[in-house]
Amino acid sequence: MAIHPRSQHLREIGIVRWQRRASNTTSVRVDGGSIELKALSDKVRQCQACSLHLRRQNTVFGHGPIEADWLFVGEAPGSNEDKQGLPFVGRAGQLLNSILFSIGLARDEVYITNVLKCRPPANRDPMGEEVIQCEPYLHDQINHIRPEIIVAMGRFAAQALLKSTSSIAELRGQGHEYSELKIPLVVTYHPAYLLRSLLEKQKVWKDLQFAQSLFSGSKNERSI
Ligand code: SF4
Repeated sequence: MAIHPRSQHLREIGIVRWQRRASNTTSVRVDGGSIELKALSDKVRQCQACSLHLRRQNTVFGHGPIEADWLFVGEAPGSNEDKQGLPFVGRAGQLLNSILFSIGLARDEVYITNVLKCRPPANRDPMGEEVIQCEPYLHDQINHIRPEIIVAMGRFAAQALLKSTSSIAELRGQGHEYSELKIPLVVTYHPAYLLRSLLEKQKVWKDLQFAQSLFSGSKNERSI
């Protein structure tokens, strides 16, 4: 069987994709998605659970293959994302693409989403009530996608996914597990923060190297 060039590249850098574990959902593939994920996306599009629905142009549900091994979670859509209905399409998105490339991943093989599905005005921080209302969508998404590893980008994603109030400095540099699904999770800085603080790029690269080692370690455990 022919090996996809990306898979070949991953093999060359020590990452081997493996058979996904069986899901306990009854997802039916529809155009690269699933009926459940499509239904959830439709529900989000109609959502008026917090005041962010009042000024949105589009909801930003997430983007990527449902069978993605890697899930990246950011904070909330910005202006470009709100216009296009897609996550990470502005400058922070370009930086994310470079970060992915640096560890041998292509944008089209990872799933990317945010904690909030609607844009906060003037790109302000999410408010507690908005996160409370919106994060169940994220947890449902993860339950359907069942990635092999999650990268939480920024404080809001890390705290929402880990149910923690710790700072990003406290959460970085160690392996976590997401919920009872026990999906390996790594915390790093948000790409938008890196645009303002390029010196931290090296730390993000280290975080993703660490994520890659967890990903490879999980693979090795599964193959024993
Ligand atoms: S941010 Fe989330 S909870 Fe608020 S309206 Fe949008 S989808 Fe609903």
